[in-house]
Amino acid sequence: MPEATTLAYAREMDARDPMRHFRDRFFIPQHNGQDSLYLCGNSLGLQPKTAEAALKHELEHWKTHGVEGHFRGDLPWMDYHKFLTEQSAHVVGAMPEEVVVMNTLTTNLHLMMVSFYRPDATRFKIIMEAGAFPSDQYAVESQVKWHGFSPEEAIVEVQPRPGEDTLRTEEIIATIEEHGAQTALVLFGGVNYFTGQLFDMQAITEAAHRAGAYAGFDLAHAAGNAHLKLHDWGADFAVWCSYKYLNSGPGGPSGAFVHERHGNNPDLPRFAGWWGHDENERFLMRKGFHPMPGAAGWQLSNAQIFSFAVHKASLDIFYEATMPALRRKSEQLTGYLEELLHSLPTGRFRIITPANPAARGCQLSIFTEQGGKKLFDTLSEQGVIADWREDNLSGKQLPPGEAGVIRVAPTPLYNTFEEVYRFVELLGTA
Ligand SMILES: *Cc1c(COP(=O)(O)O)cnc(C)c1O
Repeated sequence: MPEATTLAYAREMDARDPMRHFRDRFFIPQHNGQDSLYLCGNSLGLQPKTAEAALKHELEHWKTHGVEGHFRGDLPWMDYHKFLTEQSAHVVGAMPEEVVVMNTLTTNLHLMMVSFYRPDATRFKIIMEAGAFPSDQYAVESQVKWHGFSPEEAIVEVQPRPGEDTLRTEEIIATIEEHGAQTALVLFGGVNYFTGQLFDMQAITEAAHRAGAYAGFDLAHAAGNAHLKLHDWGADFAVWCSYKYLNSGPGGPSGAFVHERHGNNPDLPRFAGWWGHDENERFLMRKGFHPMPGAAGWQLSNAQIFSFAVHKASLDIFYEATMPALRRKSEQLTGYLEELLHSLPTGRFRIITPANPAARGCQLSIFTEQGGKKLFDTLSEQGVIADWREDNLSGKQLPPGEAGVIRVAPTPLYNTFEEVYRFVELLGTA
């Protein structure tokens, strides 16, 4: 093999990559007539070429059958959510009955907290990571207040140690143990959106359960990125969105996981709607809610067919590629990015994402203290699509645009080693 720091090496890696043909399934946004360096699958994944036909199929079905479309054809709308369970279960490591596609992410987070955050005078705390995605912070804060508690007393945020960027698992566990008797829920991201840290969800779940609390996860940045085993880990619930790594388009639907031990408990409190009601009686329009078994019993409304159709087109690709194979390539691709970044002269930036592949997904967060936004803009002008997030970490109140991270997410489905090479080359000269 040629030297890792050469273009020849990157091309050789692409030639050997058994997943390389999946790139052809996606539209790559153009820059000056060429493929841009799209490293932003953590924010909005690319469009599968099959999405348009899937959408048209449903428009056609509506045109031809009107309301009868609910019952006719190969994908009757009545059952549409069921056509996504097998693939979703594969992506998050669940049994098919434990997952359902419905609503959007923050909505589902609230619905899950309705069931799994039911505080009383002794157990009322929620433990979460500091610097969680704002929507999660707002959701948690409003839930806590809704139950009559103050965020200051009820929300415990685990902070990195001074001088560190990410959380140590032992610190998370120690915090759970410290607040154990008062803790109702431990709610973590799967992968933190800012640092790219992949949390040890199994260890967090076990610690939460030892403390007598529930463990829930927001997998927005983990679904389709990390190799998840929600069922085996014993997580109580999880939610995710489909428009980031799952490539299902802007505002795409969300997925939810409810472990079977809860899914089969009809007495578990929840907010109910007719689509979560026993499907054999759904159209009898009777009083009295009898939930469907499994995660399906948390559905409120009938499926949003057009966005589900696009989601299905994308999930089918994941199902074909399989998560273990994607993860294998992902570790190589991100490891390669890291190696090349380390070959650049030091001082201008540092990688805050953990160096241990087991503690990260595909994203690396490149932290700068000076001129970060300008560096990012220079890269953007040259066809790099990544993103810039202002510092929420150092605690220093620097002027906007100086300190922050450039998040770079080479995804195993459509990014190449050559793209990683070219990105680092541009970064080195920017
Ligand atoms: C992207 C993201 C969201 C966005 O929520 P929506 O309800 O889909 O708009 C929420 N939480 C996390 C952790 C995210 O990464």
